[in-house]
Amino acid sequence: MEKKDFVYEGKAKRVYTTESPDLAIVEYKDDATAFDGTKRGTIESKGIINNLMSAMIFEQLEKAGILTHFERCLDDRNMLVKLVQIIPIEVVVRNIVAGSLSKRLGLDEGTRLSQRVIELYYKCDELHDPMINEDHVLAMNLAGADELIVIRKLAISINEFLVPFFAKANLQVVDFKLEFGRFKGQIILADEISPDTCRLWDAETGEKLDKDRFRRDLGGETEAYIEVLNRLKGAR
Ligand code: UDP
Repeated sequence: MEKKDFVYEGKAKRVYTTESPDLAIVEYKDDATAFDGTKRGTIESKGIINNLMSAMIFEQLEKAGILTHFERCLDDRNMLVKLVQIIPIEVVVRNIVAGSLSKRLGLDEGTRLSQRVIELYYKCDELHDPMINEDHVLAMNLAGADELIVIRKLAISINEFLVPFFAKANLQVVDFKLEFGRFKGQIILADEISPDTCRLWDAETGEKLDKDRFRRDLGGETEAYIEVLNRLKGAR
């Protein structure tokens, strides 16, 4: 399958149409941004690692009965996916306090939450992705009530899959962000699952093996991303 027309360039990926109206090609870039796009850089080989890791996770999610946009990897950086209509909501799932939750609620980073927390953000760069609740989603017609129920169920199921999946690789899933899309009357998981979109801590040492290395100038970003990929491969 070949790239046809360029559709869209995001912070970490480019999207192209294909000869099939139902399929798109996602190209993973090495570009990294943080803090609402104010910090910019590149993480060498990130695009390759995130493409391979997302593919591996999407494949396993499909086996567990969770529908995703993943079709197959075309090469190191390019993934064939179903062309979905993205629902403009970022769904964040949290198991352990970190990042913006720590700041907002004054909780220490690393505090285990007594139950997972699901947060919704309106995917809108101009407004800096504000946090919203289910009423905002319905009032702004971002998704329907029935769709919200499905999104919430899927987010919980994905968390229940990811926590033991990463635990086998000796990694704690602190939090992560999901995006969903509409495809032929169904809601399916889209975007990516990678150290760009998840916080992953070594289960013993707590070492950060995710984009916080870039956000917080800790260095060793590529090494950390490769470490996660290799651990997942070893745990299969
Ligand atoms: N996240 C993401 N994209 C975003 C915002 C958040 O992938 O635009 C992920 C982030 O990597 C973390 C989780 O969602 O795994 C929760 O992020 P948080 O709200 O703590 O925000 P941040 O610390 O990124 O400002």
